[in-house]
Amino acid sequence: MHDSHYIDGRWQPSHGTDRIDVVDAATEEVLATVPAGDADDANAAVAAARAAFPSWAATSPAERAGYLKRAAEALQLRQTEIATLISHEVGMPFAYSNVVQAGLPVQSFVSIADVALSFPFEEQIYNSLVVREPIGVVVAITPWNYPLHQIAAKVAPALAAGCTVVLKPSEVAPLNAYVLAEVFESIGLPPGVFNLVSGTGAGVGETLVAHPEVDMVSLTGSTVAGRRIGAVAAQTIKRVALELGGKSPLIVLDDADLVEAVSAGLNGCYLNSGQTCIALTRMIVPRARLAEVEAIAKAGAEAITVGDPFAPTTVLGPLVSATQRDRVVDYIDIGIAEGARLVTGGPTPPEGLDRGYYVRPTVFSDVTPDMAIVREEIFGPVLVIQPYDDEDEAVALANDSIYGLNAAVFAGDETRAIALARRIRAGQVQINDGAFNIYAPFGGYGQSGNGREFGKWGLEEFLETKSMQLP
Ligand code: NAD
Repeated sequence: MHDSHYIDGRWQPSHGTDRIDVVDAATEEVLATVPAGDADDANAAVAAARAAFPSWAATSPAERAGYLKRAAEALQLRQTEIATLISHEVGMPFAYSNVVQAGLPVQSFVSIADVALSFPFEEQIYNSLVVREPIGVVVAITPWNYPLHQIAAKVAPALAAGCTVVLKPSEVAPLNAYVLAEVFESIGLPPGVFNLVSGTGAGVGETLVAHPEVDMVSLTGSTVAGRRIGAVAAQTIKRVALELGGKSPLIVLDDADLVEAVSAGLNGCYLNSGQTCIALTRMIVPRARLAEVEAIAKAGAEAITVGDPFAPTTVLGPLVSATQRDRVVDYIDIGIAEGARLVTGGPTPPEGLDRGYYVRPTVFSDVTPDMAIVREEIFGPVLVIQPYDDEDEAVALANDSIYGLNAAVFAGDETRAIALARRIRAGQVQINDGAFNIYAPFGGYGQSGNGREFGKWGLEEFLETKSMQLP
């Protein structure tokens, strides 16, 4: 049980008296509770971050990189504990959590430290000295699906830039954020440089977004939250960076290895039970191969072991919460009602799993571009298959979305795949299952957001630019 926020280098009891239950996704039992912070907590955290800003901004990039590397080491020492915690909070199978949920944040801190050490914070352009300075106090607001990864993607570069931070983690999976605060405490990060306030989005979250002493808000979350936060932050002309939802396409070209492409597509759709912003939820395939694709997808989905996140054979765990499970089941019902054909899966829970928020890996075919299951982010293990007649149609289907976060192309000929990838309106395109790269920019086109995280692009988000005209 937590009853405090981490503010100004100390654990301070919450002013807010409400509490939030954190529920185990597999057992439906309350794991822990955290305080729902209120406006006093938000004000105290912002005041601490504001007071700490001048001296933190004056440290050298090397000094700040040193703190980030020490944080990475301390996180790595607690990797198993963090992976276990997040498997309970989110439901991701432990083996995956260990690599992704607990492993990636370590890499984020290390990579951003490296980037900061070589980043050109100053350059001379003719008679001007152009300097990049930290923007100031940053409010970081994060989701539950990859909770510590999303936190690290903001906190590491903000600190590296010389900003001070107030983190408001997801109220659904906040426990890992408490571990991060303990890590910063253990490495002696100066008071006020990092602050943690837990609570709801509409409550303490919105107070932080509206706060006049905050210079920037960085959100990862739903497009609905992004719209609201953008509107609230606009009142004080804050910089707002938004990493939002997606409905990402995978295009299979006719020369691709079909088994490889469809299998990788299923993994890309179902990772973390489909609760992944870059999930490849629309599989766009040559019409002549549709029946084969359906058969491979059906066999692949039915071979997936769904169950306890701590059983070594589990590939898909439960969804994070009852709310999320109900939302996904509703979408499956809507798909059926809209006339889509269920290839496999469906709205009923997997056999033998009556406790925990489980949903069967589901595949739909015979969909039309106007259906809700084709257009809207479901955030669950639901794949739709769409046929195309020629490459232009494949590109048109891929781009027929308000989102543009991710895409994938599978082709026998890599040059052809790259040519196609250039035509897709998305922030990243995976070609023949190319791996995630922590040094490459990550972010969305369209209503998937603005701004970029990771690598030098992630650091630049948190910098202002000043030019001094020299005589
Ligand atoms: P959410 O939008 O419900 O919540 C995200 C965070 O925003 C939470 O901390 C929440 O408390 C806060 N919040 C919500 N409304 C707020 C408000 N009015 N003011 C201040 N804070 C507010 O999203 P979620 O359910 O936690 O996460 C799932 C969503 O996140 C999906 O849409 C997913 O695609 C998206 N996501 C995007 C990325 C990306 O990098 N683009 C990564 C992961 C998740």
